[in-house]
Amino acid sequence: MTLNQKEKLLFSSEYNKGAVSHAYIVEGAKGVGKLDFALYAASVLMCERADKPCGVCPQCRKVLEKAHPDMWILGVEKACVVADARRIIKDAHLVPNDGEKKVYIIANADKMNRQTQNAMLKILEEPPAPVVFFLLTERKDMLLATVRSRCRTVALAGMEESEILDILRKKYPRKSEQTLAEVTRLCGRSIGEAEELLGKDSIAEMNRASEFVKSYFGDTDRYSLYVSVLKGKQKRESNQLFLALVHGAFADILRIKCGVARCNVLSVQDAAVYARKKTRRSIAACIKTVEEACAAIGANGNYTAVMSEMLIKLGTERNN
Ligand SMILES: [Zn+2]
Repeated sequence: MTLNQKEKLLFSSEYNKGAVSHAYIVEGAKGVGKLDFALYAASVLMCERADKPCGVCPQCRKVLEKAHPDMWILGVEKACVVADARRIIKDAHLVPNDGEKKVYIIANADKMNRQTQNAMLKILEEPPAPVVFFLLTERKDMLLATVRSRCRTVALAGMEESEILDILRKKYPRKSEQTLAEVTRLCGRSIGEAEELLGKDSIAEMNRASEFVKSYFGDTDRYSLYVSVLKGKQKRESNQLFLALVHGAFADILRIKCGVARCNVLSVQDAAVYARKKTRRSIAACIKTVEEACAAIGANGNYTAVMSEMLIKLGTERNN
């Protein structure tokens, strides 16, 4: 099964019915395959064979190599600005160099400021016949309503967790099943995100989280726990991952407490030891506390403040 196959087949059938829109918003989480989808669609539009996209004709190959003269990919490194919008508008009115279509793929479309989006409106509304736009975004609601209303949306839901886990197992045979399971749970059905999480940082955060849980349930005094957490500050994404893993660890403990022998972060043995030390209600309270902290860090909350509050709340649950 290829990435986002359902959505790709739908696009092909639109093409076959002559019902392709002149502008699409391709929405989905980071790493879900938005560019991959746009390149697929572009090769359907450009392919010179009957069975589109063939993937092997010169047109398809140029698209897949991102080297087609009639396909622009913008906004990848940094968001498009007004000058880019003007370049697009000027180019869109020229006839295609090589094929029958002209494709503009705009990554991070929601990062375009209002002025740039407004500049794009006119061309999105009435583009020349050969032109098709693909606006890629993680957050469609961040685009101006006027832009949204001119585009058809393709929402990429991502892969099933079981599919992601299968791919990761094959690709990363040396990673532990625990790590792979946790990454799968955290990746929001995005294989790209999963692979990113598997990077070096995530292993460090995995260790940091299990150390934290071990200290929390162990003899470490409150003050030392506090100091080690505050000293552990990393960049925001890592802190978020750390908290997600702590959350996963408490969830493991709660499952064990409820008689379900399945763990994502901790080993079943460790989780069982911890589960004996606390009531279900108290574990649930910890989960809620960590969830709140995770959300606060995600919303750019101050690390020290968020962690202090979390530790105070966890501290009061420590002996329950
Ligand atoms: Zn082809």
